Amino acid sequence: MNSIRGIAVSPGVAIGKAWVLTEGVGRVSYRTVDPSEVATEHARVDRAVSESLRDLETLRDRTRERDKDAAKIFDFHIGLLRDRALIDPIRADIARENVTAEYAVSETLQKLADTFRSATNEVFQQKANDVVDLERRLVGKLAGDAIDLKRLGGSTTEPAIIIAHELTPSEASQFHHAGALGFVIDGGGLTGHTSIIARALGVPAVVGCGTATQLISDGDEVIVDGSLGTVIARPDAETLTRYRLDRDRIRARHQSLQEVAALPSVTLDGVQMRLMGNIEFPEEVRATLDNGGDGVGLYRTEFLHLTSHTAPTETDHFEAYRRTLELLQGRSLTLRTLDLGADKYTQEHSAEQERNPFLGLRSIRYCLRHPGLFKTQLRAILRASALGPLRMMFPLICNLMELRRTKLIVRDLCEELAEEGIAFDPNIQMGMMIEVPSAAIMARVFAGESDFFSIGTNDLTQYTLAVDRGNERVASLYTAADPAVISLVKSVVRAARHSSREVSVCGEIAGDPLFTMLLIGMGVRTLSMTPAQIPVIKRVLRLVDIPRCELLARRVGSFESERQVTSFLRDELRRIDPEALVGSTD
Ligand code: PEP
Ligand code: MG
Repeated sequence: MNSIRGIAVSPGVAIGKAWVLTEGVGRVSYRTVDPSEVATEHARVDRAVSESLRDLETLRDRTRERDKDAAKIFDFHIGLLRDRALIDPIRADIARENVTAEYAVSETLQKLADTFRSATNEVFQQKANDVVDLERRLVGKLAGDAIDLKRLGGSTTEPAIIIAHELTPSEASQFHHAGALGFVIDGGGLTGHTSIIARALGVPAVVGCGTATQLISDGDEVIVDGSLGTVIARPDAETLTRYRLDRDRIRARHQSLQEVAALPSVTLDGVQMRLMGNIEFPEEVRATLDNGGDGVGLYRTEFLHLTSHTAPTETDHFEAYRRTLELLQGRSLTLRTLDLGADKYTQEHSAEQERNPFLGLRSIRYCLRHPGLFKTQLRAILRASALGPLRMMFPLICNLMELRRTKLIVRDLCEELAEEGIAFDPNIQMGMMIEVPSAAIMARVFAGESDFFSIGTNDLTQYTLAVDRGNERVASLYTAADPAVISLVKSVVRAARHSSREVSVCGEIAGDPLFTMLLIGMGVRTLSMTPAQIPVIKRVLRLVDIPRCELLARRVGSFESERQVTSFLRDELRRIDPEALVGSTD
């Protein structure tokens, strides 16, 4: 028996025979063609690109059925392939150097991947993997066969656990369709695209395993614990029996959660809660409703910018919002205006990188500095407000002037639309995110001018504790269970209730069952989360009553350390729903 520790990226337990991928596609060797064959090589590139686009669209559509978010990865690949800036240098290489299409594709894309790899920004580094994925796909097409799973190694024809040094999102998806039970990867990280795909496909996966490909042999019995981040090769009989039980329990829980999704979000003593979805694209409305959500509590509209190479037009924005409202069929939509900056978009497009982007020109600050871009979006929001229940919310408001300036711009645009005879909702609600300590501390003042609050605990935690939310070196310090964060959330809820303003929570803790009772006990009645978490939270809230939650919140309010808070919340959750932590990566 051999146990390997890695990073838990996709929960669940898989048990099966190992299929070790010992060789990758590798670099293509240098070969030239006669100058008269350049046109033929160009045509081969074009054919490989169009066939790859077709495959990718199928892959994207198949993935979308399970997880809209994960499907965006293939949208990104499609976008890259359609980009002339990527394809033209390949064609130029062939014409200039008289090299084969395979060589030109490989060299151009490998160079691009190297550039991404050398960036310090994690988002760029991830893109290197995407570019390599495309390179393998195109080279495979040129060689006359798409990624041939058999060619990558392995000997078993049974559903197997894939052990690989690296795996691209496309390969992960294809292995899944070929019946892979789990993934064990030497490299990779929690937020890597292959990890996201594994989660979307519901395939248990552990990454960052270092030398798993050397420690495990083809055909070995392997257990993948994607919740704990453990891989066990050649387990003994006792371990195998224990894990088989765990696997069956997780499956049963998944089934029972699907049944909970259809039930009302009501506590034991009859208090109605609202569970909403956090989305990035209109298509995610389906996942929200399928999981029993009541509407969308946070639409991260900046993703429209992040997936296109040019700034979206007013029509692009409007179409996305119209489609979202259409899919919601009368349910409410809270649309957050562009939250660009920090790690999103602007650093890539800016000539000068900021030294402290999270404290720099981001979110509402960025929009106020770029009124043209902001107004384009605001006009589209206002136009969409005529079509259904839509309200807008501004990110990262730090002081009253920002809120006032923003509302003034909206009012000006309302006048503009009225003059143009374009319909909009003149009473559209304008709320704000509470995600920096200054806004939380001054919540009573903001409540006088903001129609509603939504607490963004992801940023609130990072700014309260001075911990970069994306830096793994300080990840252990990043926790919303810190009493300072909890105290701020509590005071915001109190301020909102005092002024009869609606308050919701849309940071990650809204979808974490550990915090459900605490948030209810503080007085929160609307939670907005990743759609897949809605049934888990619904199950917990249906098992508790308000007095119990209020008592719990009072106890938590007396704690002085994060450890006390976490262990208390864990004990209480276990008492209510012993299964709640099973299958979670917590
Ligand atoms: C938050 O900060 O909690 C939030 C919901 O916004 P985002 O995660 O998009 O920054
Ligand atoms: Mg935020």
